[in-house]
Amino acid sequence: MAFKLAIVGRPNVGKSTLFNRLVGKRLALVDDQPGVTRDMREGEARLAGVHCTVMDTAGLEKANDDSLQGRMRRLTERAIAAADVCLFMIDARAGVLPDDMALADILRRKSAAVILVANKSEGRAGEAGLLEAYSLGFGDPLPLSAEHGEGIHELHAQLEQLARKTEQDAGLSG
Ligand code: GDP
Repeated sequence: MAFKLAIVGRPNVGKSTLFNRLVGKRLALVDDQPGVTRDMREGEARLAGVHCTVMDTAGLEKANDDSLQGRMRRLTERAIAAADVCLFMIDARAGVLPDDMALADILRRKSAAVILVANKSEGRAGEAGLLEAYSLGFGDPLPLSAEHGEGIHELHAQLEQLARKTEQDAGLSG
């Protein structure tokens, strides 16, 4: 059984950019069947030696049956239900917005472990947003630049720890 990681966050924070960086070419697109609406991508990754299934909830914008908040809520709840760890991404350049707070509420009420990442943190433009991220209540936010690869090493280290813990909890180690 692979460790499951879900990347959640409002549109445009950089979820797909990180997904592509983590999963690279080992991407299994599930949206090429006609009539099937994609709302979640899955791919396999090996993060610091740990086999991992990565889920990306980007694609929210493409659905048109519901409010954005409703779709975010539904998808996030599905991702959380399936995931061992949720990677909650905000845009450090935009700061904490009401939609981020709404997602934080959902994440807080569920049991999956949460890693808070403040993406677009390259340079200095994300400094204020990084500080604001503490207000979300998930501890120290991890500054990241999915586009430039900054902070990826630290992210791998955190994921590795959580993955090993999940394996142990499930009695799958050794
Ligand atoms: P998603 O909607 O959350 O999946 O976001 P995308 O991955 O599609 O990214 C949204 C936009 O943010 C794109 O224009 C990306 O190029 C940009 N982006 C993603 N990561 C970074 C980053 O680390 N730094 C900056 N400055 N831009 C980024």
